[in-house]
Amino acid sequence: MFIGHFAVGFGAKRFAPRASLAVLLAAPLLADLLWPPFLLLGWEHVRISPGNTRFTPFDFYDYPWSHSLLMAAVWATAFMLIYWALQRDRSAAVIVWFGVVSHWVFDWITHRPDIPLYPGGNGRYGLGLWNFVAGTLATEILLFVVGVWVYAGVTRARDKIGRYGSWAYVVLLIVLYVGDRFSAPPESVPQVAWTATIASFVFLLWAWWFDSHRTVSLTEE
Ligand SMILES: [Zn+2]
Repeated sequence: MFIGHFAVGFGAKRFAPRASLAVLLAAPLLADLLWPPFLLLGWEHVRISPGNTRFTPFDFYDYPWSHSLLMAAVWATAFMLIYWALQRDRSAAVIVWFGVVSHWVFDWITHRPDIPLYPGGNGRYGLGLWNFVAGTLATEILLFVVGVWVYAGVTRARDKIGRYGSWAYVVLLIVLYVGDRFSAPPESVPQVAWTATIASFVFLLWAWWFDSHRTVSLTEE
């Protein structure tokens, strides 16, 4: 899953209005933020094999440290504690925990059975939505639209950066998501890892930027 994870981050603003969107996005994206450096370090492995599922050319045969259920809980707890230590916002810290774990659930729905429960475990899980291209696109785009709609409902642009910066972000993500599906598979694993790392960095920084130019319009008790 790709923009479905962004949907969780956008929607989380409703429940953690004081947290920056960048943090709320980093939580559900965390497994995919850890995955590229783990690939480059040789801790995890992926094969580029077009046709692996209809939607993606990747064969995720070894990624227990970023993507197993147990590690999702570990990373979630670590992220929650760090966030709480820095911000002392308990409800946002809990939302961050659920955000990180949601990655596993969403990937479980989309991936073919390739996700482990814990490092070293033999079982592999996944419902395989990726075998249905239209179903995948519809599910992810619908989730994304709902997430953005929630975010737009609880925040208000203070200036042009808050307004156009956020819309450009949303449109570009959808274009990249759909475009990626119809472009040629990447040439090498390091290319995938570096592209993903740089793109994540840019998208998180950009989210922080426009989010800091929007005000939460939710009335809080
Ligand atoms: Zn993932």
